Amino acid sequence: MSDDAKRVPCTSCGAGILIATADRNEGQCMKCKPSTDQSMPKSTQGENPIAGIFAGLFLIGLGAGLYYLFYLLESGGIGSIRLPGIIIIAYKLSGKWIVSGLVGILGVFLVYVNILDVLRRKK
Ligand SMILES: [Zn+2]
Repeated sequence: MSDDAKRVPCTSCGAGILIATADRNEGQCMKCKPSTDQSMPKSTQGENPIAGIFAGLFLIGLGAGLYYLFYLLESGGIGSIRLPGIIIIAYKLSGKWIVSGLVGILGVFLVYVNILDVLRRKK
C-alpha cells in the first residue's frame, strides 16, 4: 500500500493522482488539467482585430457623416429626408457636436484598442 501514499486527490474532481502528476498539472489529474497546448491569449476571444479597426474607422466616418447630416438639416438643405428617430432625439437633446463627437470618439477608441491587440499578438 505504499502506492497510496504517493497519491493526492485532484484539486478539481478529487480522483487519486500521483504526486508527480499533481506537480506537473498544478494539483489536477490528467483529465482536469487545463490543456497547455491551446493556451491562446484569452483577450482575443476569436475576434479579428483588423475587422475591429475597420469598424472603428467606419464609426469615425459615421460621426463625420452625422455631423454633415445635421449641418444640412440646420441649413434646411434636406428637409424631406427621414432619419431614424433615435438620431433625431439624440440631436435635439444634445446637439450635433455631441452626437457626432461621441460616435467619432467611440470609433477612435475601437481603432486604438484593436491596434493595441494587433501589437500584442505580434510579440
Ligand atoms: Zn481531476
